[in-house]
Amino acid sequence: MGLCPYHVIYADRTVQLFDCDLQDGKCYAFCPRTPADYGKIRESLFDAVDMTMEIGAVQGFYLSRAADWRVREKAQHGGTVTALLELAITCGLIRCAVVSSKNGAFEQEGRLIDDKSQLRDYAKSRFTVSPAVAAFHRLTDGAAGKVGMVATPCQALALAKIRTAKIPGYAKADSLGLVIGLFCGWTLSAERFQALLGRYQVSPEALTGMDIPAGKNILELYTDQTVTSVPMAEVDACVRTACRYCIDSTAEFADLSVGAARYGADANEMRGWNQMIVRSDRGKQLMELAAARGVLEIREAPASALRNLKKAAAEKKRKALKNIAEKSRSAKNLLYLKSDDPVVKKYLK
Ligand SMILES: Cc1cc2nc3c(=O)[nH]c(=O)nc-3n(C[C@H](O)[C@H](O)[C@H](O)COP(=O)(O)OP(=O)(O)OC[C@H]3O[C@@H](n4cnc5c(N)ncnc54)[C@H](O)[C@@H]3O)c2cc1C
Repeated sequence: MGLCPYHVIYADRTVQLFDCDLQDGKCYAFCPRTPADYGKIRESLFDAVDMTMEIGAVQGFYLSRAADWRVREKAQHGGTVTALLELAITCGLIRCAVVSSKNGAFEQEGRLIDDKSQLRDYAKSRFTVSPAVAAFHRLTDGAAGKVGMVATPCQALALAKIRTAKIPGYAKADSLGLVIGLFCGWTLSAERFQALLGRYQVSPEALTGMDIPAGKNILELYTDQTVTSVPMAEVDACVRTACRYCIDSTAEFADLSVGAARYGADANEMRGWNQMIVRSDRGKQLMELAAARGVLEIREAPASALRNLKKAAAEKKRKALKNIAEKSRSAKNLLYLKSDDPVVKKYLK
């Protein structure tokens, strides 16, 4: 998206407007669902000693939250993502950031923000797809300086392919300054989510946020006046089919990944914190700067939190690989994954 005029986004879907006579192009090279040597991509971005099978590279694993309560107040959980982006712009690591912006009642778009004071206005999670990578592609080469991206796991993988593909004449990869990944179990189909909201009489315009509180097996929908709880079985019916073939729940190809702090302590207190995985040297430098400047409050995460996160991530891998083998009707044909990849080998049963 945003790379080629033949592909557009229409009503939450990818549409190819014309047949294309290229055997393969940048779209194929960058797509997170085309085959690639994922081992090589991991090798070029991360240190081998940090690699784990379940959640990719881990240089450090922490509980964190924005020190500024005004960030936390606007954020999904602890505001770690927004606080890190603000800091990255302040210290010149990036000049601007692509975040997600509402585009109509259900759809979202990637929005380029270069005024850090505006980042808070785009905080919170929206569980439908936000085509952030399209916004990156639309940038003119070199014009924006270094860009920071907030990315779901599939988007972080696309960005990792962009970083490592080395396509002659394609210079935009050099402007990728930072990728902050979001933990992500799935995204919702806008169409099915709209129908679900209708059934619960929640107006999309009134929706101010949504969250899945730890241990409750419900999706909470917030408006200024109401909190509506939807059983996860109904939410599950709205999940995009493509997400069932994804083996990554922690954005393994990002510099840092951030999710809800679900494990280890009191659920209500944890709601205001994040779990943060520091993966790359660039991610580590930013995290250390955030700690030194008092931008983030950072706590050592309990060992049980990492154990539980790994367990949940391994489960997603097993399920997705089973779904892929069922789709291709052969455990030898894993579509975009290779059966000799060590991660795939471990979880393919
Ligand atoms: C689709 C989706 C599924 C998720 N699933 C899980 C999960 O299973 N487990 C878990 O622990 N955490 C999940 N998260 C992550 C979680 O909801 C928070 O984003 C994360 O904890 C960071 O919190 P924060 O307070 O630091 O974020 P904030 O400081 O509020 O910043 C959130 C950032 O995410 C951007 N954003 C919002 N929606 C999207 C989107 N759809 N695509 C790309 N960027 C977006 C915002 O623009 C903002 O920059 C999911 C998030 C999304 C978007």
